Formats: sequence, C-alpha cells, structure tokens
Amino acid sequence: MVKIGVLGLQGAVREHIRSVEASGAEGIIIKYKEQLADIDGLIIPGGESTTMRRLIDKYDFLDALMDFGQQGKPIFGTCAGLILLANNIAGQADAHLALMDMKVERNAFGRQRESFEAEVELEGIADSFEAVFIRAPYIMEVGPEVEVLATYQDKIVAARQGHYLCSAFHPELTDDHRLTEYFVKMVEK
Ligand code: GLN
Repeated sequence: MVKIGVLGLQGAVREHIRSVEASGAEGIIIKYKEQLADIDGLIIPGGESTTMRRLIDKYDFLDALMDFGQQGKPIFGTCAGLILLANNIAGQADAHLALMDMKVERNAFGRQRESFEAEVELEGIADSFEAVFIRAPYIMEVGPEVEVLATYQDKIVAARQGHYLCSAFHPELTDDHRLTEYFVKMVEK
C-alpha cells in the first residue's frame, strides 16, 4: 500500500485522509518536515494560501517541500494547494513552491460566486465529475509541459505536469474519489 501524506498545517486535511483511504492508500497527516521521508506522495489541501505559506515558513517546510517535488515524488495541490504549486500568481511578485509552470488567479470566480458546484469533464478520468469550488482560483496560462485536465467556463481548473497534479476545486468534499484514485495511481507508478 502506498503512503500518501496530507500537509496538515491548515485547511481541509481530514477530508483528504478519508478520500485517500477510500482510494486504497494509507493517509498520513504531515506536521513536521521530517515526515516527508516516510511518504510516497503528498497532497497539499485547500485552505488559504497566504496562511498556509506563513505556516510553511514558520515550520521551515519550504525547502523540504521543493526538494520532495524535485526528487520526483508526486504532489497533488487542491485549491490553495494549486496556488502554492504555481510559479506565477497574478498580481504578486513572488510565487511559493513554483513547481508547476502556470499562471494562476486567486479568488477568480468573483465574490458573488464564493462557492458553487459544477459538473466538469476530467480528461481521461471522468466524463462527469461534481466539482466543489470554494473561493477558487483558476489557471490563466500553462507552459508547454502542462496537460489541461479540466475546464469550466473556458477556464482551466485541473492540470497535470509530469508528477504534479492540481485542481482548483475540492475533490475530497464529495464521495466521488476518482481524482484522488488517479493521484494514488500516479504515486504507485
Ligand atoms: N482563496 C484561497 C486562496 O487564495 C483558496 C481557497 C481554497 O483553498 N478553498 O488561498
């Protein structure tokens, strides 16, 4: 059984653990950077990217997370986790982990649509997937190595670049575990 960590500094941690377990892998909450050595893949959950970054710095996680990805270990970023993975954030001088070649816009669906659900098609994963968006970002531009997996209203909302996966929505909040299962398969390979 592969071991999937969920970065446990802030955000929707328990729900991801539940989804990982439902997908046939072991889920481990990661609170210390030393724990990264024990896992095969990592999920960075949704929450608030600025708060999560503050905690990443406070607990000295930044270099350890970048090393984890650069060693070829799979990372799945959802919502705020997607923002942390991007190498370009609209309106901000600096990115966070900068592991995926894409430009993202935070809180991109407008205040009147703070949170909503929508059906999306996930390329090669699901013809119809109930996606929960909560103050969600979207991906404005992707580099040549990034594969678009889903769009909603012509905006990119899920993508993959080699061993990195991201979604603007929260796949852990429903009982449809197909996207998490897809990540577990990426880790098994
Ligand atoms: N709006 C949040 C941010 O900018 C992301 C929201 C979420 O993760 N649900 O970090």
